[in-house]
Amino acid sequence: MRRLALVLVLLAASAQAAPPKLIVVVSIDQFPSYYLERYANVIGEDGFKRLTREGTFFVNSAYPYANTFTGPGHASIGTGHTPAESGIVANNWYVWTQDGRMERVYCAQDDNAEPVPPIDDPKIRKDNSRSPLNLSAAGLGDRLQEKDRQSKVYSVSLKDRAAILMGGRKAWGAFWFDGRVKRFMTSTYYSHRLETLVAGFNKTLPARVKKEMYWDLDEKTKAAKVFDPEDLRKGVKSDKYGLGVEFRHPIRDLDALTYTPYGNDLVLDLARAIIRGEQLGADAHPDILFVSLSSTDYLGHAFGPDSWEAADSVVRTDRQLAKFFAELRKQFGGSVTVAVTADHGVQSIPVIAMRKSHTYADRVNMETPESQPRKDLEADAARRLGASAPLNLIRLFDEGAFYLDFSKLPGGVDAEQARRAYRDSARAMAGVADAFTSEQLAMPNPSPSAVERAVRNSFRRDRSGDVLVELKAGYIWDYDGLGTTHGQPVPDDQRVPVMLWGAGIVHGDEACAAGPASPLDLARTLGKLVGVDAGGKLSNDLACARTK
Ligand SMILES: [Zn+2]
Repeated sequence: MRRLALVLVLLAASAQAAPPKLIVVVSIDQFPSYYLERYANVIGEDGFKRLTREGTFFVNSAYPYANTFTGPGHASIGTGHTPAESGIVANNWYVWTQDGRMERVYCAQDDNAEPVPPIDDPKIRKDNSRSPLNLSAAGLGDRLQEKDRQSKVYSVSLKDRAAILMGGRKAWGAFWFDGRVKRFMTSTYYSHRLETLVAGFNKTLPARVKKEMYWDLDEKTKAAKVFDPEDLRKGVKSDKYGLGVEFRHPIRDLDALTYTPYGNDLVLDLARAIIRGEQLGADAHPDILFVSLSSTDYLGHAFGPDSWEAADSVVRTDRQLAKFFAELRKQFGGSVTVAVTADHGVQSIPVIAMRKSHTYADRVNMETPESQPRKDLEADAARRLGASAPLNLIRLFDEGAFYLDFSKLPGGVDAEQARRAYRDSARAMAGVADAFTSEQLAMPNPSPSAVERAVRNSFRRDRSGDVLVELKAGYIWDYDGLGTTHGQPVPDDQRVPVMLWGAGIVHGDEACAAGPASPLDLARTLGKLVGVDAGGKLSNDLACARTK
């Protein structure tokens, strides 16, 4: 009897120690934690709730950095490194060229990588010349490849930066969608381009847009608690691809489809095709598949997180994932591990936030030299520098990062004095939480504020701007006066779910689920399951969720 017990214990131990054959990391683009709190009454039992019930949902997880954008988020999920470490400090930044110009760099840009399949149009070709060239950190997939070159690593998304930065530098393949050529793409950077598989899949795309197709509000969603005043739709929300600003939304083409929850099916179906075609999880070499669902972000920007559309997207995404999880379990049994997270959250559309919570919220437009807040900033900075007229030193502005033109400095003023003047002027503006100069951030500060700590975690001196401006909760950088956005060090943007389920994962107790966590922890935690050391300085092992 005792021997039998011992055998059982040993069997259990060996079963627990077996690494997963397949890890699937799902990132839902623009998916704040408050969605799951708010819509708990309308989502099903087999999606997010299944992961919570059978795995561990870290309810307090949040990004520890300021630049809560898609590029930085996916680099963090894939590598477990902060933007300061990975170099992906934003979606776009500016660098000096050798001939003294400032050139815009897109986070997944690589002019030496050719699109696959080839594209003739020079603009679309350049827009698909993509690779992880700008990514300075090794990812979970990279570490696994170093350990076992037969482990496959694939990544899929509608967005190139999501697929590429999450997949890492050694991914076998990364695939993204370009609406202009209406197909999934990859580039010559990747060793496994799966040309036959992807071409076959692309052939199925046109038929997905049916005649007289609509995005209707799902019956389930109707019971959601939503704050979506009818008079705050037209002129407040963004009307993209003829979808309109309220239900029911006509879907006239594939571009419109990607702005609805049906866009998730494109990505999940390609993921399924890769699992099948590449036989992921079929042998003793563990594989990783990264999946990023972008449609939630597209529609979230257009309609805002308080909309019926956002509520419906949560209900439908939950259902799509429930089906995917069930298939994975059916195919792989106990040898698949699933992680679910998001690249960032989102803030309410400011006018809706004001009516909903009676707190002040606003848009701040700094895009062009003609925008009023920018004129005010220039005037105030000039006054601080003792100039009688605006110096117009702001050369470029991108989502809170100001790049200054020091060739226009008046005599007796050095670059850091100019940066400080703009910083101090920005600090005095309505809606600004804090502002920093690049010199200031290049020096250590033993006791930074919470905002400064977050800014430091997404700062790299050769890429970030001269002056970095962070907004208060409720405020967003504005470009066209419509919809909303994310990108600030505020809870609505930073707080996103982290969920683990399947092989090697236990149902964590309350203390575990409520403990500190961030999407950066996934690389280290999932790495432990396959015996590799992945992740950067702020990537922690979520050991309480792992099998002992
Ligand atoms: Zn995003």
